Amino acid sequence: MACVSFPYDAPVSQTLFDRASLVTPGGVNSPVRAFRAVGGTPRFMVSGNGPYLTDADGREYVDLVCSWGPMILGHSHPEVIAAVQEAVARGTSFGTPGEGEVALAEEIVARVEPVEQVRLVSSGTEATMSAIRLARGFTGRAKVVKFAGCYHGHVDALLAAAGSGVATFGLPDTPGVTGAQAGDTIVLPYNDLDAVREAFAARPGEIACVITEASPGNMGVVPPLDGFNAGLKELCAANGALYISDEVMTGFRTSKAGWFGVDGVRPDLMTFGKVMGGGFPAAAFGGRADVMAHLAPAGPVYQAGTLSGNPIATAAGLAQLRLLDDAAYAKVDAVSAEIRGLVGEALAKEGVAHTVQAASNMFSVFFTDRPVRNYEDAKQQEAFRFTAFFHSLLSQGVYLPPSAFESWFVSTAHDTQAVERIAAALPAAARAASEATA
Ligand code: PLP
Repeated sequence: MACVSFPYDAPVSQTLFDRASLVTPGGVNSPVRAFRAVGGTPRFMVSGNGPYLTDADGREYVDLVCSWGPMILGHSHPEVIAAVQEAVARGTSFGTPGEGEVALAEEIVARVEPVEQVRLVSSGTEATMSAIRLARGFTGRAKVVKFAGCYHGHVDALLAAAGSGVATFGLPDTPGVTGAQAGDTIVLPYNDLDAVREAFAARPGEIACVITEASPGNMGVVPPLDGFNAGLKELCAANGALYISDEVMTGFRTSKAGWFGVDGVRPDLMTFGKVMGGGFPAAAFGGRADVMAHLAPAGPVYQAGTLSGNPIATAAGLAQLRLLDDAAYAKVDAVSAEIRGLVGEALAKEGVAHTVQAASNMFSVFFTDRPVRNYEDAKQQEAFRFTAFFHSLLSQGVYLPPSAFESWFVSTAHDTQAVERIAAALPAAARAASEATA
């Protein structure tokens, strides 16, 4: 990071960050927001409109983070805002069942065929935590298989070799997770079916489930190799374990039915979040009715939430999902392809080794010329080049995820004007990446 200069300052963001750092650990409420991987002052945003964010210093950015995925229609979509305003006028939380929850559950079930029943929660972390508990309760087994570089939220048992912020900070593990909590977690290399086969052979009757990101985006975008997800499903079925597909990131983003709509592999349980909440805290897990029947109050596996199915969150999520038709996905896919092409061209022109990887409209840029198939490959990239690339784009009004190990996200609102702004900023950013030194 020594080579990076921060080409302009952000005095209001800096003042806010100083205040925040006094009252909040590291000044942020989720680690990757702190810019620690890239250095500099995190931008405090005050508003979002379409493909743009405006920070507290009054600077506008083309947003390629989209709140880490949820804002697939862009910021402040008028129909989502109207649905929220209409819902909020009727009250904010009742602690009782409500029609909005039913409608959102029906929409999920209608879109994602393997989901016969679904339970709403408030975060992706809760969804994966609950799905794992249910898998253990259903099978009566303890062990969970996960893959290095896959992030499933900050569930204790799943914070072993996780991606996202954990990848960004290079933490193999985190203090506070006990041996007992992580001891039943088996971490395997991603895209390696032989490793999964061996794990089942070594522990007959012990593995409750295999959990995987449907197409990982938390070590950068690393899609499953052909047959990998199908192979996982087969191995789980043959060994009496459940196959859990974590679609918190890919769900309702990579297609109308998420990654299931792309590869058609039928999970036993699935988890959702991000897009389905329309920018509010809403998430879900669901799947086979016979498995979901084990959940309280229908069955013995306990799971609950004061704000689960919150009426504002469900109204926002439902409004967003109803706008996400085939045309919307075609638009997001097309703009993603266009931006990927521009980034690749700019880096190639400066002779910067890079690989752009995509899963539908999710994509990321690895600073290596070798394909990235797992977390070990991802760590081989020249991340210091990303730092220079990131800051050059930031200074020119393009907001990337502040880490080389994250997916970039676009929306239906990324129009020609937004793409032109990115295109204009890329040559200098590519040059900065090429001149960067470790
Ligand atoms: N699963 C995946 C695949 C994710 O990408 C994330 C968050 O990025 C989570 C789970 C956790 O979701 P949340 O941050 O809403 O707890």
